[in-house]
Order: sequence, then C-alpha cells, then structure tokens
Amino acid sequence: MEKQIYQTSSFQSSWNEECAVVGTYNVDHAALKNYYALFSMQHRGQEASGISSSDGKQIYTHKNKGLVTEVFNQQCLQNLIGRASIGHNRYSTAGSASLSDSQPLFAKYNLGEIAIAHNGNLTNAKDIREHLIHNGAIFQSHIDTENLIHLIAQDKAPNLKDRIISALKIIDGAYGLLFLSRTKLIAVRDRYGLRPLSLGKIINADGSIGYIVASESCAFDLIGAEYMREIQPGEMLIFEGLATSDKQSSIPRITSLQIFKPNPHPCIFEYVYFARPDSSVFSQNVYSVRKNLGRELAREHKIKADMVIPVPDSGVAAALGYAKESGIDFELGIIRNHYVGRTFIEPTQKARELKVRLKLNPISNIIANKDIIVIDDSIVRGTTSRQIIKILRQAGAKKIHLLISAPPTIAPCFYGVDTPDSKDLICANHSLESVREFIGADSLGFLSLKALNTACGGKIFCQACFDGNYIDDYTKSKYR
Ligand code: SF4
Repeated sequence: MEKQIYQTSSFQSSWNEECAVVGTYNVDHAALKNYYALFSMQHRGQEASGISSSDGKQIYTHKNKGLVTEVFNQQCLQNLIGRASIGHNRYSTAGSASLSDSQPLFAKYNLGEIAIAHNGNLTNAKDIREHLIHNGAIFQSHIDTENLIHLIAQDKAPNLKDRIISALKIIDGAYGLLFLSRTKLIAVRDRYGLRPLSLGKIINADGSIGYIVASESCAFDLIGAEYMREIQPGEMLIFEGLATSDKQSSIPRITSLQIFKPNPHPCIFEYVYFARPDSSVFSQNVYSVRKNLGRELAREHKIKADMVIPVPDSGVAAALGYAKESGIDFELGIIRNHYVGRTFIEPTQKARELKVRLKLNPISNIIANKDIIVIDDSIVRGTTSRQIIKILRQAGAKKIHLLISAPPTIAPCFYGVDTPDSKDLICANHSLESVREFIGADSLGFLSLKALNTACGGKIFCQACFDGNYIDDYTKSKYR
C-alpha cells in the first residue's frame, strides 16, 4: 500500500488556490485601494500580481511575478493613475510560469484599449484557441483568458458590452471576469456562479460614491468599503461615467444585465478551504459555515478524546465547531509558522517532510499522553496528513483520530482550482481503511456529502471534486 502511494507522479500535496480579482471605479487612489484589496486576498494566489488603471484617456499596467508587496512599490502605484482599476493575483504552482501569463492582460484593438482580469477556468479554451490560431490570431500567453481578447477584437459589434456578450456566448466554464476600458469597468460572473464575486461601495473624501468588485469581501474591509451584494450568476455589471481628472470624482452609473439564465452551482470548496474566514462568499460568512462543518462532523463522528486540535489555519473554525458540539476541550496543539513563505522544495519525500515541519510544530506539553482528535479540511495525496500524524506521534500523542471537515476528494476540478489528477488523489484510489493505514492515524473519518450540504446552507453547489458529477458536459469534451 505504502509503496504504491509513493509511486504517484505528482508533487502536488494540497489544493492550490485560485486567483483573486479586484475592480475599483470612481475611487480616490484607485490603484492604491486595489493594491490593498489584492494584499488582503494574497491567499488566493502568490505567483504573480498586477494592476491596470485608467484615467479616462489611457490604460496603465504594472505586473510582475511575486507577492503583492514584492510586485508594487510606491512609485509604480503612483504611475498607475486614474480613478478606475482592475487587479489580479495569480495562483502558485510547483513549476514556473512566464510573466506573459500574469494578469491583467492588456491589448489595443479597434475600439481602443482593454485590460482583462479573470478568476476561473474556460473549459473549451483549447478548441477556441486552435480555431483562432487557424484563422491567423497570434497568442502571447499560454492562458485561456487570452481567447477573450481575440474574440472581442474580432467581433463586429460597435461597442465593448456587446462584444463581451458575443465572446462569452462562445466560451464555457467558470469565470469571475473584470474588463477595464478607458472609461468603463465591466464585471461578469458565469451562469453557474462557480467563482465568487461581490460588489461593495466606498465613500470618497468628497462624499461621492465609488464602487469595488472583488472575489472576496475581506478585500472591502481593509479599504473601508461596504459590502453590498453578490454579483448574480450570469449577471453583467457595467460601470460608466468616469471622471477624466485624477482629482475629480463623478457620479457613476451602474447598469445590471442578466446576460445568461442563471443556473447557480457555486463552488462548495470555497467554504471548506479557499476563502478567508472573515469573508462573505455566496452571501454567507465563511467562518460561520466552517464552524457548522465542525458541528456536523461532531454529530456524525462521536469520539471519546481528551481534546480537539485543528490543523492550522483552515481547520481552526471547524475544530471550534466540533469542540462546541461535542463538549470536548479545544486546544491549539499545533502552531503554524506564518513566515515560511515560498520555499524551493525538491520533490523528494525527505524534502516534503521538511516542508510540513517548517510550517507546523506541535506543542508537546499539551498533547503528550493524550487522546486527540485532529481536524483538517482535506486529504489530497495523503503525504501531508501522514507527516502531520508522524510529528504528533513524535510529540507524544497517545491516540490520534483524524477527522476531515469535508467528504473524500475523489475527482479533479476543471473550474479554476489547480488539483492533481484522479490517479494522485489518494481517496479516489484507496479504501478508507487503506488511507487510514497509510497516514498512520488510529481512526479516520470524513464528513458526509449530506452533512456538508447542510452545513453550507442547503443550497445547490458544485461539489464535483467530492462526487464526480460535473455541472456541464465538460467530461464529454473532445479535447479532455
Ligand atoms: S470541482 Fe470542487 S473545487 Fe472545483 S468548482 Fe466544483 S466544488 Fe469547487
């Protein structure tokens, strides 16, 4: 069993975050506010960051590889002039990626200038790209988002809004999209609402109202913006009326168009893992939902133990919920080092073990000779869980019960989350008992799909990584 699992090819041992997008319109210091908003959503992507701004006459762009604080300095933020902007954080991967794949993407075309920021994944991008290349298009990046630039540039409609709608009728998949022209900001969410996108407002120094659109509402808090609502699945918001002076505000107009019939299936994994607990996504606070996950876990898995401890950070709220429901003491038995940052880790077992050690350190005084329940959010390859159990045993834990605040992940995501292939997902290929044996826990339990849905508010979600039921016919796509 053990050997078989180590023979998997991928190095990826956890879910890689999605991207983050931010748009600001009629906002004082729009690029600076965008910078802070991107900073608050750094957890959604650490590979590259970028901002495009507009002063009504021209679009300015700065982007680079690295964290938000590494990419921008005071000078380049001052160069991003204007009262409208879009920004993007790109998710991290084990390999390298070229700067040309970072966003926003910028292009000049026959209606002027455009910048695009995209969170999600266009599932028929390969077919469209081949078609466009066949007809003479020249691509400068490897990313699916560039298809949109070409589709918009080639369309014959007289305005940007209609060209975007035409382009979106051709593409499938998941998107929270922001388009910046010299004078307009346009935000669109796919018909399934897979990726979160919310609208907020901000009061400028002169009392005028500005707007912000962001993947997560934690971006609003940092810049003093007020959460207004979620952008609906299939909805397009058009912001118009930008002042052409950097100093002067205007009275912006917002137009809402329902461009696709909504078929809501938001990504349930946002609640389990991705989103920050202080965010509201899909109209619910993430921390509250995660506590619900822990409560449901306690109802389904009644275990006698001395304490409940989370795998920090994403297991904390669920562990609190479990402790409250079960009456078992909550302890921070593992401390996370938040300053590890990005490290170059060789894809060897020893290096993987070091990576976990660098991040997580158990408190021996708390857990020695104790029966403990450990709460985590997921098991991907199993190697990280195995290492966590190992360090807890070395710290003296007597019995270790690992509970996961979600069902087993059995299928990859095609909607913008970088997941391993099915063959590398341990729960897709091995029985519960085999997985328990591999990770070395005394017992192992998962939340049921039914309880996950209950904890998340009983709506309809995309939960394909847990049940393999994709929301469209992507699995039948000819290029998959
Ligand atoms: S497959 Fe999983 S991670 Fe991907 S969108 Fe659906 S629920 Fe989210």
